[in-house]
Amino acid sequence: MSATPTLTVPQVPLGRTGLTVGRLALGTVKFGRTEGVKYPEPFELPDDEALATLLDTAHDLGINLLDTAPAYGSSEKRLGQLLAGERDRWLLCTKVGERFEGGESSYDFSASAVARSVTRSLEALRVDRLDLVLIHSDGDDLTILESHRTLDVLLALKGDGLIRAVGMSHKTLAGGERAIELGADVLMTTYNRQDTSMAPLLARCAQAGVGVLIKKALASGHDGARALAEVANTPGADCIVVGTINPAHLRANAALVADNP
Ligand code: NAP
Repeated sequence: MSATPTLTVPQVPLGRTGLTVGRLALGTVKFGRTEGVKYPEPFELPDDEALATLLDTAHDLGINLLDTAPAYGSSEKRLGQLLAGERDRWLLCTKVGERFEGGESSYDFSASAVARSVTRSLEALRVDRLDLVLIHSDGDDLTILESHRTLDVLLALKGDGLIRAVGMSHKTLAGGERAIELGADVLMTTYNRQDTSMAPLLARCAQAGVGVLIKKALASGHDGARALAEVANTPGADCIVVGTINPAHLRANAALVADNP
């Protein structure tokens, strides 16, 4: 068991999804992938014991959302193993559209690829239903939304009961706006000290009842932890997904989010 923490992060509704999330969530790229990442320092994948301790610490701090993806190497599979028996503690967010194999990303946003990806994620995570599935954009948001109609495919899988809420981890303002128009429940949006260009979109999400997950709040580790306070104070930044494999960093991040509600 982890030590008793002295704080927990605030709990907030994630738009109109009906899901309640801690304002800080845990990104799990570093649970499963070391290649092709933009972090400032090289790192080793933590062993299972270290990850179990990290997850216990996260739970104690009031964190309940884990963000993963098929493109994060072994992250989904490791979470499936580590969370066995503790499923009720967690909301799991995964993605479709990107895979990462042999050191390279490949993308497929077709309906058949999306359906296969969801099936693989259900198996890897050992669940009957995914809480949240986002399109993992390659940057060409409008083509994904308008030509591949990938959000429609996710909405249909939600209708089938395989997913509770759907959306897009987008890269462009126009893509985020179009995803809202097409019925996204949630957007995952980059917002940090160096890139505040999505501020108008955060306001639109709040008006539309679309939940927001912030990615790269620390500019993938290029900003110091204090920068999290500014992101936490940004209107519309519902839930901030910070990637870490360091329990001390996790506690520091939770304290900053708790102090800046
Ligand atoms: P981030 O959360 O901005 O930064 C993570 C980096 O910051 C890690 O290297 C981490 O290192 C470091 N860090 C965290 N807390 C710290 C602290 N208190 N003090 C010092 N360093 C600290 O960037 P990110 O991981 O790129 O993005 C966050 C999450 O968003 C990802 O894990 C992923 O779930 C999601 N994401 C999604 C997409 C997409 O869908 N396209 C893209 C990027 C990210 P330590 O491990 O040493 O703490």
